[in-house]
Amino acid sequence: AKHVYTFGAGKAEGKAGMKNLLGGKGANLAEMNLIGVPVPPGFTITTEVCTMYNEQGQEKTFELIKSEVEAAVTLVEELTGTKFGDKDNPCLLSVRSGARASMPGMMDTVLNLGMNNDAVEGISKKSGNSRFAWDSYRRFVQMYGDVVMEMKPASKEEHDPFEEIIDELKEEKGIQLDTEFTTEDLQELVKRFKAAVKKVTGKDFPTDPWEQLWGSVAAVFNSWNNPRAILYRRLEQIPDEWGTAVNVQAMVFGNMGEGSATGVAFTRDAATGEDVFNGEYLINAQGEDVVAGIRTPQEITLSGSKKWAALQGISEEERASKYPSLEEAMPELYKQLDATQQKLEDHYKDMQDLEFTIQEGKLWLLQTRNGKRTGAAMVKIAVDMMEQGSIDEKTVLQRIDPNKLDELLHPVFDASAIKSATELAKGLPASPGAATGQVVFFADEANKYPASVLVRVETSPEDLEGMHIAKGILTARGGMTSHAAVVARGMGKCCVSGAGAVKINYKTRIMTIEGKEFKEGDWISLNGTTGKVYEGKITTKDPEMSGDFAKIMDLAEKYTRMSVRTNADTPKDAQVARKFGAKGIGLCRTEHMFFEGDRIKAMREMILSKTETERRKALDKLLPYQREDFEGILEAMEGYGVTIRLLDPPLHEFVPHEDANQKEMAAEMGISQEEVKALVDDLHEFNPMLGHRGCRLGNTYPEITEMQARAIIEAAVNLKNKGVDARPEIMVPLIGTVKELKLQADIIHSTAKKVFEEKGTEVEYLVGTMIEVPRAAVTADKVAEVADFFSFGTNDLTQMTFGYSRDDAGKFLPVYIEKGILKNDPFQILDQEGVGQVVKMGVEKGRGVKPNLKVGICGEHGGEPSSVIFCDGVGMDYVSCSPFRVPIARVAAAQANI
Ligand code: PEP
Ligand code: MG
Repeated sequence: AKHVYTFGAGKAEGKAGMKNLLGGKGANLAEMNLIGVPVPPGFTITTEVCTMYNEQGQEKTFELIKSEVEAAVTLVEELTGTKFGDKDNPCLLSVRSGARASMPGMMDTVLNLGMNNDAVEGISKKSGNSRFAWDSYRRFVQMYGDVVMEMKPASKEEHDPFEEIIDELKEEKGIQLDTEFTTEDLQELVKRFKAAVKKVTGKDFPTDPWEQLWGSVAAVFNSWNNPRAILYRRLEQIPDEWGTAVNVQAMVFGNMGEGSATGVAFTRDAATGEDVFNGEYLINAQGEDVVAGIRTPQEITLSGSKKWAALQGISEEERASKYPSLEEAMPELYKQLDATQQKLEDHYKDMQDLEFTIQEGKLWLLQTRNGKRTGAAMVKIAVDMMEQGSIDEKTVLQRIDPNKLDELLHPVFDASAIKSATELAKGLPASPGAATGQVVFFADEANKYPASVLVRVETSPEDLEGMHIAKGILTARGGMTSHAAVVARGMGKCCVSGAGAVKINYKTRIMTIEGKEFKEGDWISLNGTTGKVYEGKITTKDPEMSGDFAKIMDLAEKYTRMSVRTNADTPKDAQVARKFGAKGIGLCRTEHMFFEGDRIKAMREMILSKTETERRKALDKLLPYQREDFEGILEAMEGYGVTIRLLDPPLHEFVPHEDANQKEMAAEMGISQEEVKALVDDLHEFNPMLGHRGCRLGNTYPEITEMQARAIIEAAVNLKNKGVDARPEIMVPLIGTVKELKLQADIIHSTAKKVFEEKGTEVEYLVGTMIEVPRAAVTADKVAEVADFFSFGTNDLTQMTFGYSRDDAGKFLPVYIEKGILKNDPFQILDQEGVGQVVKMGVEKGRGVKPNLKVGICGEHGGEPSSVIFCDGVGMDYVSCSPFRVPIARVAAAQANI
């Protein structure tokens, strides 16, 4: 098999379609060559090699690919007219990771590889710039030392060991900036860096370019399994088996002087989705400088630059002289770049995120990929591209990551609350949304408060987990393409970056803004849409669901087969869900209604009753409450089916466990407190989830079912008399045998008959069952004979199929996921291989005897995209989920069907 794919000078062995083998970056580097975009020549070592490396070890793997790598290096030498390790005309390389799915900043990169005491002379002569040559050398030692030789800071409060040496030398020389270092200073740095490496690692810094190359390749493969990459994969659901490719390319230099530059750009706005080319660059800088947030990057376009200056409060004169746009500083190259970005977007038909370098007046592209974007940008870009005629309706739906719609459904700052808020500072609107939380300064402390805002000078890939936990991120340095900004947008997390007024002291854990001090734990608020930072807590309000969002929902409607219902227990939730497009209620959990106001007292009385007569008396008190609740919810969902489930949880959940409450209850019922306590103790169960709950309640206390059935049917009749189209569907929970359902159905039907006779009005209603116990699924052919519909309760079905307690699984599931025993939490993502097969069997057996049996799902999985797609596959009629997940399920349901 082939392990190495070369590219360069308009030719390539790979292409865009080969992402699985070459990784995203490698496939696109090949493709760019093929479409005539200038890319430095190089080669890609495949992801299969990474897998082999992980399975069979370094020695065997490198032996196998050695000759292919050597031949590929020779090709790069030929195309660039250089020689690896040569004294006069050395070949310098970059080594970068590149997985199938982009994992920005998660894995390692080495630049300027091939540098040593000989090569530095060659570069010096060739460029006529010895300072540049030595600066490249010291960068290489620094990067290689960090990435390959693992020179890390001793603790989180400490600096990078190389940065410490840089600071020391600055102090000795009495200078402030890196740019003030002379060639001799840089030589001194190289010397000190190498000495530090030797001291810490006990190893000499390698001078042989081949040793450097193999060391770097190994480091990139190893970085696939570094903790932050593993975490990122978990968050983004990227399989561990994929592995990363390694891209080796001839170096081009953005730091060869004032005619050189480097930058990062987006073909559209990744935060808002607006169709404007934008990005940042730095003159005389190398690769990571732009994203690292160390120097303030400048805008590429003139309009972007003006906007940026206005946000920062910088005057036009100062902007034009200190921070000119690329459009102004290098107009000809800007034109080329602008044409190239358009070409790339037209070719890929999606928003591109690209990296470029200008070396002495020549433009090179180093990377292009589909850009990460916020939920809002995702929607706008897809709709705009459809309207601009570049993609069709089905492609629009496929471009929507349903889970990302969640960002659009979340609150924004309340307009009046924001007016009276005190503005502290202004940074860049790096990732939109609103966040309110308590200040933390270290990512690993983000979980110190229930709502935290992570405040950093800048963030790094190590901070990923904390960024995920925090409600928002504020950085003092860094632009729109800084690590914080890019990662936050990918996560859909509110972020304000580059707020220069924020001064942070990590040691004292205090930030100062315009003289005002904020300690750790103080409240601040961020508006990621405007870049503003506010003092204190600010109220938020619900977002608008119109415009492009509505267009996506219309497309979902057009292409979907299944319908989407909602799980709702109150008329208000039902109305919210209806606005999001829910067509009916798939689960109304009646027990939630018993906790409001005085109802709980009547409920407790019912539970604590010793005789049927007493129980019926208490149930009579509950009846009007229930009827009223059902009228509300049936009316809110007028015209659609409303599935109302009979009482489900174990009774002990309703009774008072505390002394004072027991006392109150005793007084209410006219019995002694001891008696109440004894009755409560009597309800104790060793395993309540598998105990006296679900239809087992209705079968031991039929009068409860009778009361609930009466309340539902009376409510429907009352509504019908008012002219409201109410469609109740009564659902029996937790059955395992058909007989359990049959007895309940008999009660419901006879109660309905009675109500119809009493009222002289009839309504249509259904009686169905939940399928939550594996036995019910296995005997679904029998169950279907009695049921009008099935609704899969995959929460309990997962619990009982795995035998994992829903309430206790948190203790071992994280470990199971960590160890790879499970891929993900089966209570969140339906386990298609196991639980899914039980569902499938239930659907097939049920439909086998009743072809028109209505089938749906109402467990949590009904709002999780991959599970929704599975439900479509087994032929369900609907999925039901919480109101805020309705739009997500609608898009997933449409995706399942196109
Ligand atoms: C279920 O078990 O999936 C279900 C919807 O019921 P509950 O979560 O109320 O047990
Ligand atoms: Mg259940």
